[in-house]
Amino acid sequence: MEQWAYLLIALSLFMLVIIIGLLSVLIYKLFKNQSTSPTPQNLNTDSGQQQLAKDFHPAIIERMNDMKKLKQKRADLYCPNHTEEPGETVCAICDKLFCNSCVKDFKSLHFCKEHLPLIMNFEWDEVFTFKTSTEDPEQGVRLYDLKKEIFEKEELATYIETHYKINVDQDFIETYLVVYSQKENIQRVKDIIQKQLQA
Ligand SMILES: [Zn+2]
Ligand SMILES: [Zn+2]
Repeated sequence: MEQWAYLLIALSLFMLVIIIGLLSVLIYKLFKNQSTSPTPQNLNTDSGQQQLAKDFHPAIIERMNDMKKLKQKRADLYCPNHTEEPGETVCAICDKLFCNSCVKDFKSLHFCKEHLPLIMNFEWDEVFTFKTSTEDPEQGVRLYDLKKEIFEKEELATYIETHYKINVDQDFIETYLVVYSQKENIQRVKDIIQKQLQA
């Protein structure tokens, strides 16, 4: 009878060891999952995306990526200096939206704090004057796109003014788009615009 009791105790101890072992494996796994679950930082990395692919259904990942894009767009709509203020005015040089306290008016245009000194401290002059025609409104759009490209890729600052001229003889208003750049950059800007608009 005593032998049976010893065997029973040994068996229960053995079971206890196995249960503790299983529990610790379970807890370890739980902690591991928590530490590798996607956080906003690793969402943007390749490994983050791979981890996501393992954890979520593809449709959910797609939705999360959509949300990310939406978030970036939201940031574009707010002043970069005041993230709670909606952007209301576009800087004539960098084309970014700023809140009204971050832009200054000069020569009927608006300039952000970074680019107003460029206007004040350098000499600027006309590069080109384009007569806009109602038959080809696309040309004006192309010019604005080109201006943006010149700033982003070539780091050449330009701004575009709209001038109106009254044609007395034929009694209508002519519209001109005038591109300005710093005096020392005029030739470079001219060359790029000519090359691009002819292409
Ligand atoms: Zn600017
Ligand atoms: Zn602002």
